[in-house]
Amino acid sequence: MKAAVVHGINDIRIEEYPDPVAGPGEVVVKTNVAGICATDIKTLLGQGIPKDLPTILGHEVVGEIHAVGDGVNDLAIGDRVAVYPIAVCGKCRYCLAGRHNLCEAEFGLGHGIEGGFAEYVRLPKEIVDIGGVVKLSEELSFEDAVMAEPLSCALAAARICKLKKGASVLIIGAGPMGLMHSKVASWCGCEVIIADLMASRLALAGTMGAQHLINSGKENLHDEVMRITDGRGADVVIISLGIPQVIEDSLKLTAKGGVCNIFGGPPAGDIKFDPRWLHYQEITLTGTFAATPDDFKKCLQLIGEEAIIVSDLISHRFTLDSFLDAVEKAKNQEMVRGIVTFGAPVSVSF
Ligand SMILES: [Zn+2]
Ligand SMILES: [Zn+2]
Repeated sequence: MKAAVVHGINDIRIEEYPDPVAGPGEVVVKTNVAGICATDIKTLLGQGIPKDLPTILGHEVVGEIHAVGDGVNDLAIGDRVAVYPIAVCGKCRYCLAGRHNLCEAEFGLGHGIEGGFAEYVRLPKEIVDIGGVVKLSEELSFEDAVMAEPLSCALAAARICKLKKGASVLIIGAGPMGLMHSKVASWCGCEVIIADLMASRLALAGTMGAQHLINSGKENLHDEVMRITDGRGADVVIISLGIPQVIEDSLKLTAKGGVCNIFGGPPAGDIKFDPRWLHYQEITLTGTFAATPDDFKKCLQLIGEEAIIVSDLISHRFTLDSFLDAVEKAKNQEMVRGIVTFGAPVSVSF
């Protein structure tokens, strides 16, 4: 098969790769669409790059069942499916509590096993057993369905932050995940304030329903948030970028009794805060990493019902042949969400 194969840091090549085979309890999916996530780019550039190389990244995968291993009964060749990308044990205290994303033995697509930037993907028994290969309704397009994985991470943050109707939610960062937080918060009936340095991203957030746009390069973020919230701060602050200084500065924008969520995966390092801030104002400081299978299935449902529209997040479409171009555009933050499509080649006439 053809795949985008990672050989080392910033070394990715489009080349032939052995076809995966479905072992007992496993399935192989013929990829139809794979989403490009910031995590893929971070990994390619060295942050958490797998030890066993070469490998294939990509954890946002939808397609058709191509092969079914022995013992798999509820999936058949030709089924259209979306994939929850984390392989979990199903037995540890976290899995038993429904917090599969914290599984003690987790691995997954793009970290431990080969991912979706390839024509075929093998899904291990752990993902099949947990019900992580979810059949799609006929009406749901592959392009919409591929957004369920990133959206599920935003839904997980909303669940952790207990978003409620009428709450003010400040989202720091209007990148693709920031926009998804904005969509989820709007769906929850919250008042959405979103801050970024890029005017184009803010304008997009405005078209997607965010009520208050703050250009933190031009305006004073603290003053603007306090003006909008009558001096209280935001009931919920979701920090959707992983820059320690920005995290530290954003903590203070949380209202008394509010919740602050570190969502964007930060690099190692320390931040400072005054413990009195946490104590006297009863702040809940938390984080969200990935999502549970339930979050994922809920997002497929919400997308299917058009309760949350995701098609406007897709800004660029690539094929495996133009994948290196996608990597460049992602590195330069030129796109909202890029996807790789594997459908039948389309003849283009000019
Ligand atoms: Zn992702
Ligand atoms: Zn587990």
